Amino acid sequence: MSTSMTGPTDNAPEPRPSPRTCPSPEPHSSPRTRPFPEPPPPDADALLLPVPDDDGAPFWQYAARGELRVQGCAACGELRFPPRPCCPHCQSFDDRWQRMSGRGRIWSYVLPHPPLLPAYAAQAPYNVIVVELADAPRIRLVGNLVAAPDAPLDSVDPARIRIGAPVKVVFHEQAPGVTVPRWLLERP
Ligand SMILES: [Zn+2]
Repeated sequence: MSTSMTGPTDNAPEPRPSPRTCPSPEPHSSPRTRPFPEPPPPDADALLLPVPDDDGAPFWQYAARGELRVQGCAACGELRFPPRPCCPHCQSFDDRWQRMSGRGRIWSYVLPHPPLLPAYAAQAPYNVIVVELADAPRIRLVGNLVAAPDAPLDSVDPARIRIGAPVKVVFHEQAPGVTVPRWLLERP
């Protein structure tokens, strides 16, 4: 959850000089589940594992329970991704994690080319897709399209991938205690 992303912009006049700037950091007013377990040591021959930060840790904790949840503002209700402490719409630090239906559509995709890390080269050609969530079309998640939750990364023929194709989330335990969302075609 380290990807940077700029929030929506508008040209409406704002009463304050820095309307999109969150106030100075304060302790979170909502209780958070801490700490996230230490990630396993890196394995050069294995697929990369997520390295959660404090804001993104709940995403992975819910994933481990088989739930796809997105951070939302407890004050104004706006969803935001990637996770961060403050709401860009109303500057509230209160959040809640809203469960998604797990349905979406392929917004974009790539087929990574060499040079690849060894574990990825062994599964090429594979795909990386960007999924637009059905419940929150402004929220897009990056993942892999696979034929089954625990199938290899190259289990879907790249020729079958289409922009706009409906997909649904599944969960794969990639390492002990580390579960990642993946995606299946709704109409395989
Ligand atoms: Zn808000």
